[in-house]
Amino acid sequence: MGDVVKTGVCNTAGAAERATAGSPPTTGRTPRMRHACLAAAGECMAELLWPTRCIVCDAAGQVLCDACARSLRFVDLYRACPRCGAPFGRLVCTECNSYSMRDAGRSRLPFRQCVSAVVFDERSARIVRGRKDNGERRLAHHMALAMARVVPLEWLGCACVTSVPSTKAAVRSRGFDHAYELARELAALLGMPCQPVLRTGQGFDQRALARRQRFANMEGRFAATSPGGQGAWDGCVLLADDVYTTGATLMAASDALLEAGFSQVRCVTFARVY
Ligand SMILES: [Zn+2]
Ligand SMILES: [Zn+2]
Repeated sequence: MGDVVKTGVCNTAGAAERATAGSPPTTGRTPRMRHACLAAAGECMAELLWPTRCIVCDAAGQVLCDACARSLRFVDLYRACPRCGAPFGRLVCTECNSYSMRDAGRSRLPFRQCVSAVVFDERSARIVRGRKDNGERRLAHHMALAMARVVPLEWLGCACVTSVPSTKAAVRSRGFDHAYELARELAALLGMPCQPVLRTGQGFDQRALARRQRFANMEGRFAATSPGGQGAWDGCVLLADDVYTTGATLMAASDALLEAGFSQVRCVTFARVY
């Protein structure tokens, strides 16, 4: 049993993380102090019963401990591909060259540039799956922090941050829109607005599909939401997602964002499969 339970003292860091998980950022005083106090008391009780543990090393205290957050395999942006953000692709990129693009049924990337914070390995996979599959929503803040650090300054001039839309079935089964929540955390850190620009139709979970199947599964998958509609947006948009695997999802979403009227799409992901 964790230290928190032994001492009987509420883990304020864990409880604070619980209390703010999934909540939009607030400024100034909240008019619902009583509700906030009750919520905080409930979170302290939850912390006593189910102490917060690090998703990577299982140490008690934080949902992602400082040591594990520092030990992630961060992408070296000076070695990464300047277009698709593949780690070690600066000189020769195997991910967005003409052969790879032909596999994707394209001549070029639809987005202007992509950057990723960390390499997708065992540690970052635990973070992604812990949030997406196990519902640990507090990890969104930690992921967004890592993403915010790799967003180039000039991207802050984009009109808004947006996300790849989740299917209704995925939102129902998880209880939250994992992609939009991550985009919202990132937007708050960058001081930018977050807009749900795209909607999605039916589709299969990409995780079980091979590379070519992923691109086929994504064709025409996204469209602009109403009341914006096609051609209603302009300027640059920052598209955020948790993992860049083949790029099929980001490319399909970028197509739809360009159709919606944006002149440029820039992408940022927490992890990059390589
Ligand atoms: Zn840890
Ligand atoms: Zn590349």
